[in-house]
Amino acid sequence: MDNNNVSNFIRNIIIDDLETGKRDHVVTRFPPEPNGYLHIGHAKSIILNFDLADEFKGRTNLRFDDTNPLKEDIEFVNSIKEDVKWLGYDWDGLFFASDYFEEMYNRAVLLIKKGLAYVDDLSADEIREYRGTLTEPGKESPYRDRTIEENLELFENMRAGKYGNGEKVLRAKIDMKSPNINLRDPVIYRISHTAHHNTGDKWCIYPLYAFAHPIEDAIEGVTHSICTIEFEDQRPFYNWVVEQCEMESKPQQIEFGRINLTNTVMSKRKLKQLVEEGHVDGWDDPRMPTISGLRRKGYTPEAIRTFLRELGVAKNNGTVDTQMLEHFVREDLKLKAPRTMGIINPLKVVITNYPEGHVEMLDAEINPENPEMGTRQIPFSREIYIEQEDFMENPPKKYFRLFPGNEVRLKHAYFIKCEEVIKDEEGNVVELRCTYDPETKSGTGFTGRKVKGTIHWVEATQAVPAEFRLYEPLILDAEENEDEEEDKTFLDYVNPNSLEVLNGFVEPNMKDAKPHDKFQFFRHGYFNVDPKHTTEDHLVFNLTVSLKSSFKL
Ligand code: ATP
Ligand code: MG
Repeated sequence: MDNNNVSNFIRNIIIDDLETGKRDHVVTRFPPEPNGYLHIGHAKSIILNFDLADEFKGRTNLRFDDTNPLKEDIEFVNSIKEDVKWLGYDWDGLFFASDYFEEMYNRAVLLIKKGLAYVDDLSADEIREYRGTLTEPGKESPYRDRTIEENLELFENMRAGKYGNGEKVLRAKIDMKSPNINLRDPVIYRISHTAHHNTGDKWCIYPLYAFAHPIEDAIEGVTHSICTIEFEDQRPFYNWVVEQCEMESKPQQIEFGRINLTNTVMSKRKLKQLVEEGHVDGWDDPRMPTISGLRRKGYTPEAIRTFLRELGVAKNNGTVDTQMLEHFVREDLKLKAPRTMGIINPLKVVITNYPEGHVEMLDAEINPENPEMGTRQIPFSREIYIEQEDFMENPPKKYFRLFPGNEVRLKHAYFIKCEEVIKDEEGNVVELRCTYDPETKSGTGFTGRKVKGTIHWVEATQAVPAEFRLYEPLILDAEENEDEEEDKTFLDYVNPNSLEVLNGFVEPNMKDAKPHDKFQFFRHGYFNVDPKHTTEDHLVFNLTVSLKSSFKL
């Protein structure tokens, strides 16, 4: 997989490491915490880690960072595996941080024996107070000078379940005056009497992420441990753990900038809130920036990969216009998706001079941009549906679609002319009466006269009913960071009109469409057959992306 053409400083570090002989191989890992579904930001990290290992013939592990039993769940483990595979990657090793709990415990004991860790009885609040601030040094805990023997015994008692949650912690003994707050005796183990999805009731003490992560990396022989920029200040502690725990393998932590997208939220906490409070119909709602949501919406792994590779790798967090992602989705579907016609807001048209009861079959190309896809047959008869918005009784200037007395081309069929408008008692237009000209059949080379508009249609007697779900951005224009401002939360920016459900018709050849089949509906956009709501006799299409955008790359 080639991502050489965009800037990637991590790639340069690896090349350097290999050239100077600092390393002779590459091992990366993708380390999600199984506390939610993966989103497009995670996909950035997946692609980065797997692509780099691929390029240098290395290995990539999928490792679940499951050190916090409170928030983690097997449902998330399974969805993460599915999403990584769907994105097109296959991990070398599959690991759980919780498989290393015994090893981590032993390393913590080693620290105690070296006089580099101690059991502290201060409460969480006191620890916070004692920690100091960016401008003030911290204060040493009165329990800091416990003897090694005492610490060993207390830590063993912690493991044996002799204390309640929060009663004691194990802390690294480094430097309460360090300018880096992360080095002011960070907590490395805490008590939590909580069952774990993998280890059950075996443990009631759990290692903290900052302590566990470097050990996990080192155990697996990871060479380049790629993480996001907020861990930069943790790097000294990461190295301290690798060093002082006497890990054989020495992974190197490298930080890069997170990506965010406009008009959405990306933190798992917020995504979870949207799911739990029912703003969306699940983690895989097509409005979500989750991998499963984008999949349901009709995005392809190819489009997502191209988009993320094209972004390159930066040192700072950055927000990318969602329209750029949409651009790559259109580019990918352009050649793949069959063209078809669908009516989202139907208006019945009767062609009065067409023989009653007669149905003819017309040829239509499946994809003009990819002629190899061949042709399909579509029926035409006296009754068809057109789009409500393709008719106006009193049109403005330059309206080239149907209006009384005007003639348009029906895509793949004939010219029709609007002769009469039928209304209901309230004055709504409910039907049009038109005439057609048999001379004007598509593909016959008719040149007699021209019309300015071409509209789409579906033959009425054989049309298949279909539900169309149209999506707008989930979050209205507002920075995620405005959260704290004026008591507003991101929920205040949830778009109340982000989903519109409409019932229309599609061509009869669509009746066997399967979940995840993708189509380009002429003049509407790309749609994906929804896997959740589609049944044997109810077709549901999700709008993937509209056809046009003002966005320029
Ligand atoms: P969130 O803030 O969404 O909860 P997280 O960092 O807590 O994300 P993890 O499960 O720990 O989620 O993430 C797994 C990996 O994905 C980490 O290496 C993390 O740095 C990376 N990652 C998460 N979000 C992004 C993002 N927006 N851009 C790039 N990488 C990301
Ligand atoms: Mg995290």
